[in-house]
Amino acid sequence: MPDAGAVPTRPAVRAEPDTTDLTADVAVVGAGAAGLALADALARRGAGERVALLETPRADLRSPERTWCSWQDPASPALAGSVGAVWPHADVVGPGGARQRLDLPVPYVLVRSGDHARAVGARLAAAGARRLAVTVTGLRDSPDEPRAVVRGHDAEGRPVRVRARWVVDTRPPRLPPEVPPGRTRLLQHFRGWFVRTREDAFDPAAAVLMDFRPPQPPGEVAFGYVLPTSPREALVEYTGFSAAPLDGAGYDAALRAYAATAGLPPFDVVAVEQGVVPMTDEPLPRVVGPRTVRLGTAGGATRPSTGYTFAAALRQAEAVAGALVAGRPPVPPRAYRRRHLAMDSLLLRALVTGRVEGAAFLADLFARHPAERVVRFLDGATSPWEDLALMRTAPRGPMLATVAERALPRGLRRQPRG
Ligand SMILES: Cc1cc2nc3c(=O)[nH]c(=O)nc-3n(C[C@H](O)[C@H](O)[C@H](O)COP(=O)(O)OP(=O)(O)OC[C@H]3O[C@@H](n4cnc5c(N)ncnc54)[C@H](O)[C@@H]3O)c2cc1C
Repeated sequence: MPDAGAVPTRPAVRAEPDTTDLTADVAVVGAGAAGLALADALARRGAGERVALLETPRADLRSPERTWCSWQDPASPALAGSVGAVWPHADVVGPGGARQRLDLPVPYVLVRSGDHARAVGARLAAAGARRLAVTVTGLRDSPDEPRAVVRGHDAEGRPVRVRARWVVDTRPPRLPPEVPPGRTRLLQHFRGWFVRTREDAFDPAAAVLMDFRPPQPPGEVAFGYVLPTSPREALVEYTGFSAAPLDGAGYDAALRAYAATAGLPPFDVVAVEQGVVPMTDEPLPRVVGPRTVRLGTAGGATRPSTGYTFAAALRQAEAVAGALVAGRPPVPPRAYRRRHLAMDSLLLRALVTGRVEGAAFLADLFARHPAERVVRFLDGATSPWEDLALMRTAPRGPMLATVAERALPRGLRRQPRG
């Protein structure tokens, strides 16, 4: 495996006397979507005992609980015991209120991270995988040493050292404060209310995937969605694609307005989720040392144009587990095809420069193409022919201008709006 040199290599350091010293074949750092998926995929292949899964006990570092939605086979072994809702149908609502009902080729599936962690946790325990409450603070991976060394601290602050043949790091990536030249970064940010109504208000068979009726701030995209889990319960979210998230009051105002637009009857908010997902074409290396790879968001699993990550993280994890079991280096596959990343890069640029109105663009995609094609595009699974068909309906002038801009010196390029 190439040494990308991103993991600093240091001379061997003698462990502190009270260090807990462990050896594992595969150290998986982080038990979020990607880390759980990999440990589970190994356990399902009979290789659970090879795994040490390290998750921070520190609340300030830990990824908060969340819901993951994606197009999946709900009967997939990776989701056994984790599926919270399945929608065979979805609605898309255009900026003017036109509603389109999609019969989804693959259902839209909701997984709550807490349920998933419990279901996978039970499988890992049965498979003999080790789980360690450790905050990882350093990695040493040198071509001169037979194992990589993961260092960290347990909940009491005692040092822990895990020597591993392979390290799979899924900690969220730290993007530089400044976006590198020629790259684009938008934030997908959202707050969702888990609501309960006093009367039946939702169709549990149909999710509202995107509703573009919320006001569209210039150069940004805003939409709401409604994910019903019963006739009286739903996750109602407000999402923006922009340079900065809203503050709490901003989200609540947007959600109140959206609930009114969507015609929700009186409801109680029983829980809240909030998050920010960077949508970017910045490179995220998957191989960062002779024995260290990155997976999930850290390994480029977030689709730049949509923020969807979960399905790609699962796909990467299955491939990495397959490689490990077959005795091959566990290099995660590229999460998305090159041409999809190139399309995303253009689209992001067209959005941030304001050349393309995001809401109209996305609503138009659904209006002008079969649901299957658009869903496959959002999921990163379209064929070249499908991509061509999608590009033919994209606003030609703005997209061509964005392509042409790439040839200009940086100073002459259009700056992001906002
Ligand atoms: C609120 C929210 C909702 C989302 N919903 C969707 C969705 O519906 N569909 C979709 O496709 N994507 C969604 N995403 C995007 C993406 O799927 C998630 O962010 C997903 O959790 C990414 O998985 P991951 O394993 O890469 O990272 P994470 O799930 O964040 O996992 C990283 C893990 O590393 C641990 N960790 C961090 N630091 C350390 C350390 N120093 N030592 C040890 N462990 C550490 C964290 O506690 C965490 O468990 C959502 C994101 C958010 C924030």
